[in-house]
Amino acid sequence: MRALALVAVLALAAPAYAQFNLRDLNVNKVLETVKNVGKATREINQEEEIGIGRDVSARLVGAAPLVADARVQRYVNNVGRWLASQTERPGLPWKFGVLEAPQVNAFAVPGGTIFITRGLLDKMASEAELAGVLGHEIAHVLRKHHLKAIQKGAMASLSGDVASMALTNVNSEARHKLVSFGTEMYSRGLDKDDELEADRLGVVIAARGGYDAYGLPAVLQTLQAMNASDSALALMFKTHPAPAERLEQLAKRMQPTLDAYADQAQLQSRFLAETKAAR
Ligand SMILES: [Zn+2]
Repeated sequence: MRALALVAVLALAAPAYAQFNLRDLNVNKVLETVKNVGKATREINQEEEIGIGRDVSARLVGAAPLVADARVQRYVNNVGRWLASQTERPGLPWKFGVLEAPQVNAFAVPGGTIFITRGLLDKMASEAELAGVLGHEIAHVLRKHHLKAIQKGAMASLSGDVASMALTNVNSEARHKLVSFGTEMYSRGLDKDDELEADRLGVVIAARGGYDAYGLPAVLQTLQAMNASDSALALMFKTHPAPAERLEQLAKRMQPTLDAYADQAQLQSRFLAETKAAR
């Protein structure tokens, strides 16, 4: 009787203690779980990356539709694909779109889908600036920043075997959770180091595409000059380091290496003509 009471107290007071009770340990079950954790922490293959991206972008486009103008969509897509074709992952199904949203923002989805908002496009003055912003987003895809954050979050919130199932079974409950987590990440933002790395790589991608390397810094200067309390900037400022810090970090890297690419194409008039409908 006393022994039973003691067991009950232990179970209530220290549930963790119960896990160290080896008496009814199911060795097979433990081995299975360890194996599945291994599966979930493995490198996600390209097909899975593209699949996760497709699910996440469907949710994001559900929240804000694409700007209904074929010319501007084709133009942004052409500039983006040109830049992406010269990176180390030219074979991804790269897609670029302009979302019908007044907020100033841009984001990349795993697998190569990239969106910028009408609000951000409206703040740009040249194709070199567009290339800088797209270069930053392309860099997130190349370095799998979002994919890794989604995987990390899934590992933390789902058990190993469930996280593994989320990758392989696209109709599972676990998959829905993974995609929700992925979507939610766009309102939380990435690590600051990932953002600064995307800035550094982004200017290189734009320069390699033949554009003035100072396009991205020019956009950051425009954002810096805007009223920080402007509600259109709220999400961008919440999910990215401050423009001043990004400019400072870029300046350290850009001189003198990228100064050689400062007089490359800017293409202001082509940009203004092609994006007229979205401005
Ligand atoms: Zn970013």
